[in-house]
Amino acid sequence: MIAFNSSPRILERVAALPRYATATAAPSAEMVYLASNESPFEPLPSVRQAVIAGSARLNRYPEMHSGALRGVLAERLGVAPDRVVVGTGSAGILQQVFAAFAQEGDSVVYPWRSFEAYPILIGASGATGVAVPLGARGELDLAGMRAAIDTSTKAVLLCLPNNPTGTIPSRSEVAEFVAAVPGHVLVVIDEAYLEFVGPGSGVDALRLLTRHDNVCVVRTFSKAYGLAGLRIGYAVSSSRIADALRRVFLPFGVTALAQAAACASLDARSELDARVDAIVRERERVSLALRGHGWPVPESHANFVWLAVPETAEAVGEALRDRGVIARVFPGDGVRLTIGTPEMNDHALAALTEMRER
Ligand code: PMP
Repeated sequence: MIAFNSSPRILERVAALPRYATATAAPSAEMVYLASNESPFEPLPSVRQAVIAGSARLNRYPEMHSGALRGVLAERLGVAPDRVVVGTGSAGILQQVFAAFAQEGDSVVYPWRSFEAYPILIGASGATGVAVPLGARGELDLAGMRAAIDTSTKAVLLCLPNNPTGTIPSRSEVAEFVAAVPGHVLVVIDEAYLEFVGPGSGVDALRLLTRHDNVCVVRTFSKAYGLAGLRIGYAVSSSRIADALRRVFLPFGVTALAQAAACASLDARSELDARVDAIVRERERVSLALRGHGWPVPESHANFVWLAVPETAEAVGEALRDRGVIARVFPGDGVRLTIGTPEMNDHALAALTEMRER
């Protein structure tokens, strides 16, 4: 019998997925929006020009696998082009990773608190996410993550530096960790904030790739490159893993405009490097000032700072909003403040200073 008032059954695991929480208030011209770790800078004129030029061919599909961009990336990174995969932001790449490597009955080990899309994307693949809590200073618990790997584990995720705490383990700790993971377990290294990591603190993930076939490095044009609105990121891995990622790619999932903007950004390296330097300088200024006012702020290696205020996170977020600043609140954990222009940061600093002086 056909039941006419029934409706399609939503998979239990889909109904159980956490929702991706964007900022609670819509950004408006009056508010200082520091909640999404975006670049505060407008696109470079050369990047805009490339997008406008690309718009002349919007009636055509884009290059399916971003061949031109992959060529440039491969050359820069010193790897063969077939080891580079371009996707719909690094979130899109992560979705491809789990679609290709995890399913029901499998588990994926990831740090928590970390990028909130991890449990969503793992859960959507059907696999079980195994969250390993951060250490007391907001650092990845690499020993705990190692201990969480069992026979069902298909992948383990590292977020370097970790969003939202900004911490990064040392190069040797990461090398040791990767060497200890069994070869059949994929090690996903999410380097969304790589460009903001100081020269002495990098983990050299690409070098790990030369030694370990099970590593997949994920990067994005959303943060340092300022292309968050265009949705483009990439992965570097063995050609075998890269091929699997391409098989599950949404057909034509990266627009021609995004590909053109990414190519133009790679051509504008010195201008973008100067912008990254400016953000890093501001990050240090803001961190020092906040600590000076008694805020617990761990050393950050990204384009945001972390206020480790688990008990008062919501109240701090609320008070910032009352003073015109939108930060990202993680109830029970803390508040993450993206680094913006000096003016935006001054606004946030004034608000946080006032809160301490009340
Ligand atoms: N990884 C991390 C650690 C992130 O913080 C983010 C964005 N917040 C992403 C991946 C996804 O970025 P995108 O999809 O824009 O590349």
